[in-house]
Order: sequence, then structure tokens, then C-alpha cells
Amino acid sequence: MQRNFMPRNGGRTPLIHAAMALLLASLSSPAWSAMVTLHEAAVESIFAQSGFADPVDLRFGPTIQYVAPALLDVGSSTEFNQLKNNFLGLPNTTVRLFFVDTISWCGDNGSVAGCANNSIAIVNSTTAASPTVGDELIAHELGHVFGLEHTGGDNLMNPTINDGRNSLTAGQITDLLADYNVLYDVNNKPYVDIAPVLVVAAATAVPLPGAALLMLGALLPLGLARRRA
Ligand SMILES: [Zn+2]
Repeated sequence: MQRNFMPRNGGRTPLIHAAMALLLASLSSPAWSAMVTLHEAAVESIFAQSGFADPVDLRFGPTIQYVAPALLDVGSSTEFNQLKNNFLGLPNTTVRLFFVDTISWCGDNGSVAGCANNSIAIVNSTTAASPTVGDELIAHELGHVFGLEHTGGDNLMNPTINDGRNSLTAGQITDLLADYNVLYDVNNKPYVDIAPVLVVAAATAVPLPGAALLMLGALLPLGLARRRA
């Protein structure tokens, strides 16, 4: 199920990276959709592996809800650009990591788990939630954001998702550390500001499983009021 993709060229032109074959199609249940899973420690470890003089500090901010029912599936260049061109009031060096239900367009039509371009990455929230490959999906898309192209083998930038494909070459590490999305603190240590963005059909409180909602019925008005605060 390997997907074609449009390779990124050397510049920062707006080419788009369709990402990974969606091997976990069985996980594409709506029950799992529309949620944010960051795997922060695991993703950070990929950008701290042997070869990095200093680990890249991934500074995930609070999750932003973005109400856009038409974008729960990213299905066209127009829809992709609606995400790409909406900076949500954030600096253009803050990477926007969108979680959507499905991606059916990323350079061309088809179902992929992730898509990236310049300072945005879009992931299928179901695949991102996978305990085995979710971290690699997010790291792979961040790799594109940092300017890396597809390659093969056990490399992170292998376009096919598979647990354990997370290595980076010395050349890739050099390249990504020079990307404009990688910032440096006063001690010259690399970091990246990342805003997780949950695309939702309507503004909601923190999503709860249906069963938990029923159990908490009596407490719900109070709980919702607090969560909206
Ligand atoms: Zn890719």
C-alpha cells in the first residue's frame, strides 16, 4: 500500500508530502476520531537519538480546538490550504500539528495517515493514537516539516509506516537542525514550538467516552462549566 508522493525540492516551495501507507485501516473507526495523542517522550527520543549533539526540545503547547466540520476530512487542495494558510494567531515558526479524522487528499487523492508542508503537519488522529506507530507517524511528519525527504530502510523518512523505523542519518540531522522551524535558545540548544490543533465539528468540552459521560451525568453541568473556563 505504498503511496506516491510529491518529493520536496531543495527550497521551501509549497510542495506537499503525502506520507505513509495506512496499514492500520482497521483502526479507522469514528469512535477513535478527533483526538490528540502526542507521544511526546517517544517523539522527542527520536530527535535525541545517537547523532544529535543536543536533543531537540519539542515544546508542545496546549491543544487548540479548531472548529471546521468540513476539514474533519482533508479532501482537496482547497481544504489543505485552509489549514496551511490559517496560522491561528501563532508565529510562523510555530509548527501547527493538526489532528483530523481522515486525509483523502495530499498532493493527490487517496487515503494517507499524514501530510506535511512548511510549518504544518496533518495526521489522522486514529493512526496518531496507535501505541505502536503513532510516535513514528508524528515524528515522520515533523521530519517533513524540518525539510527531510523520503528515503528507505529503517529510516524515519521511509514513507511506509512500521514500528521501529525511526533512524536518522548524520546528513538528515544536519539538515533538520538548519531548518527554519528549529529554533535555538540562549544556550544554543535546539527547540521547536509545536501547537497541537484538534479539528472539530463544533466546539466541545474535553472529549469523554460515552460510557463515562453517562456515569458522570449528574456532575456534567458542573464539569462542563469548569472545562469551559
Ligand atoms: Zn512522508
